[in-house]
Amino acid sequence: MEDILQIIEDRKEIYLEWLVRLCRQPSIAAQNVGMAETAKLTEEILQGIGVETRQIPTSGYPVVYGEVGSGEKTLAFYDHYDVQPPEPLELWESDPFAADIRDGTLYARGVADNKGNIIARAAAVDAYMRARGELPERVKFIIEGEEEIGSLHLEEFVSQNQDLVQADACIWEAGYTDPQGRPSVYLGVKGMLYVELTARQANVDLHSSWGTVVPNAAWYLLQALQSLRDAEGRVLIPGFYDRVKAPSESDLEALRQMRFDEESYRRQFGLTAFKNGLTGLNLVKEHIFQPTCTICGLWSGYTGQGTKTVLPHEAKAKIDFRLVPDQGPAEILESLKKHLVDGGFGDIQIDLLGPEHPARTPTNHPFAKLVAETAQEVYGKEQVVYPIMAGTGPMYVLCEQFGTIPTASIGVGNSNSRNHAPNENIHIADFYRGIAHVATILDRFAD
Ligand SMILES: [Zn+2]
Repeated sequence: MEDILQIIEDRKEIYLEWLVRLCRQPSIAAQNVGMAETAKLTEEILQGIGVETRQIPTSGYPVVYGEVGSGEKTLAFYDHYDVQPPEPLELWESDPFAADIRDGTLYARGVADNKGNIIARAAAVDAYMRARGELPERVKFIIEGEEEIGSLHLEEFVSQNQDLVQADACIWEAGYTDPQGRPSVYLGVKGMLYVELTARQANVDLHSSWGTVVPNAAWYLLQALQSLRDAEGRVLIPGFYDRVKAPSESDLEALRQMRFDEESYRRQFGLTAFKNGLTGLNLVKEHIFQPTCTICGLWSGYTGQGTKTVLPHEAKAKIDFRLVPDQGPAEILESLKKHLVDGGFGDIQIDLLGPEHPARTPTNHPFAKLVAETAQEVYGKEQVVYPIMAGTGPMYVLCEQFGTIPTASIGVGNSNSRNHAPNENIHIADFYRGIAHVATILDRFAD
């Protein structure tokens, strides 16, 4: 590997330039900002290292698809070129699309999620081919443009291009070092059911003196929301936990080896305690293996400065349920509908904004072991294997819907990368280590 690592060292300024260039190009799928430009730029960067690319149209934003190398085995990279909206802008210390570098850290919307990983993988392929002339396997880049809005058309893409997405294994989009600098390997994702609930009462907002006799949409919605969870956060929808699998003994072993640094997370988040006073193995078990019901946003009536005595006729909530294997989003949606009807809230409108299946690769799979072992070699630190990540992605659609592709998620983020939040960042040293890790996998995977 010395020859390849030397090239990564020699070309590190070039690789950083690619990353800065991609980060300076906004690509906010939710607001349709810069999407076509970013797809084109992503293609350009891949073409520059000899990847044959094309944009494959979907009913939404196109998928950037690329192939390079040949060999008996095929390794796929799944990434996304879209990013979350940067708001609230006033909380950023530098412009979210300036890609400002301060003290060895690059700040930009999307740098951790997921442009840093796109470039790290491209750079690994570049370094490998410069050192050895060619790759020992076929590599596929599958870079979608809608991950941050729920991968709305990935299923359509996969269904229509089943041959293109076939692979012997897949490196998933993201990974982070923990507070002790140990690299993470994620072997699964949680699923998601994202809904918007709308409660309506009168046909227009009224003077709040009508609060005597006119029902209030905000109170009504709150009552419905209260029926979804108990005080400890356990979801009260009948059947919700029916398909939740208990962690196996080897899963629990992985959790123990994680040495989850709860104190530093607690301090980082400014909390005096975690929910329900959870601590130790119970805290980690809850975090990794339990589904959630989260109110992501809640609004109604007047929320501006000062007072406005108004009786809201409409109230809305955005809710995400993070699902674990083998909960299915369609089934949970039906259970939610029935629960609201049975509770007398059948007139609350439910809009489905994003369904996603959970997925996972077993901890003892050879590919999972390869990715974990090479992480340990490159980082010089014990790797941390998560049987499932607490976050969500369309792993099921790409890797489990048509046959099973073993999948592991790694990446260049850190424990304070602030994905989706102001001041998203990666440490540049992690970026270079991430390139070396992917290059090592490219070398070992073909064996
Ligand atoms: Zn994201």
